[in-house]
Amino acid sequence: MKEKIIKYIDNNKKWLFETLLEIISKDTINRLNSGNENNGQDLVENIFRKMNLKIDRFSPDEVKGLKKHPAYLAGRNYSNRDNIVGYIGNNSKKTIIFSSHIDTVPTENLNWTKSGPLSPKIIGDKIYGIGALDMKGGLAASIFALKTIIDLGIDIDGRVILESVIDEEFGGANGTLACITRGYEGDFAIIPEPTGMNICPVCISQKLFSIEIRGKVGVKMDSGSNENEPDNPIFLANKLINALLEYENYLNSLKHNHLFYKDQGKPIFFIASGIRSGVIEEDRLWTTPDILNLNLAVRNYPDGCETEELFDKKLYEFLFRDTLLNKKIKDGTITFNKHYRFFPGPRFNINSKKNKQYLNILIESGKDTTNKELKISGANFAGDLFMFNNFSSTPAVFFGPGGGNAHTADEFVYADDIVNLSKVFAYFVCRTICLQ
Ligand SMILES: [Zn+2]
Repeated sequence: MKEKIIKYIDNNKKWLFETLLEIISKDTINRLNSGNENNGQDLVENIFRKMNLKIDRFSPDEVKGLKKHPAYLAGRNYSNRDNIVGYIGNNSKKTIIFSSHIDTVPTENLNWTKSGPLSPKIIGDKIYGIGALDMKGGLAASIFALKTIIDLGIDIDGRVILESVIDEEFGGANGTLACITRGYEGDFAIIPEPTGMNICPVCISQKLFSIEIRGKVGVKMDSGSNENEPDNPIFLANKLINALLEYENYLNSLKHNHLFYKDQGKPIFFIASGIRSGVIEEDRLWTTPDILNLNLAVRNYPDGCETEELFDKKLYEFLFRDTLLNKKIKDGTITFNKHYRFFPGPRFNINSKKNKQYLNILIESGKDTTNKELKISGANFAGDLFMFNNFSSTPAVFFGPGGGNAHTADEFVYADDIVNLSKVFAYFVCRTICLQ
């Protein structure tokens, strides 16, 4: 069986590459509150039809109970944004789910040099295009894996579900939640987000803040008064950023307590994406700014940060150790506002016999089909994993290809990785639910 799968995939990998190029060429850009994923979903539906899968196409808006779910993120527009679920087999035995988001980040104002974002290209061992790595490469690999099993005529004694979901970028996660709420559950799920071929049962917890620091315009001139310097948001920001970097260092010093992160160099890194304050003009050289805005993603380990309260408690306790920051946060000079949603740490029970068994089969499938030792690790980015692990009965892992330049120009995925991934996925399905 193993040889048959390897041979089929090696002989037909052109299908995988061509399918991936076609999926990338469809504009499925997420525009924060709206999107147009149906461009890509029409194509995915067509592929599923050709594979004779049973198809369920639905808008999150039509899923009963979704909007009342505690994990639902309100405020998104879901016109022209359908989920596509394709499945085969019956649900009387085991079910394996592959779940991928088809939306990508916007591509404007980026300088693409290797290919256009929506005119993908294979150059050497890399496939370039927006979403190639995050995560149309993983989506294509999971489709190709099931196509391999079907084309080889292998009997599926259970069910395989392929989900192509919408609205993951910008913290949506409602696409995945809509599948769960609609009743798609399984024994094990794989989300082929780019993990560099590592198996990640957990990922970091994360909160993206828009931080606002208020100040007083002008400078102090009345020498001799007992008044303090007016607050300068730039200096306060400096203090705050230093404290946040100390917090990041502190969290990294705790890595040995976290099973999935202890072997990583620097598991936790905050992302500052923008800062703005004041006016850079010669006639404003003697005026301090009234406000400073800073966008920054704070992160932590998954365990111990399963709720927003726990995550916040750790962050503020650390910041409040500094007397000035303590005062300025408490009096509202510095405010932390949340973007989108909090990403809780996914709960994955590593001690469950069943979970261990699936992880072992996955590792063995990697070894058997690609001769590579797949490692278990924690992911350094957040995504839809928490939806499965915290809000469904299906344990899930991130496990996807390697590549580079995610979310920016010249994003690419390694061609070999998606071929290898297809082999591991196909053999994993065979070993878990196929009659051999
Ligand atoms: Zn992604």
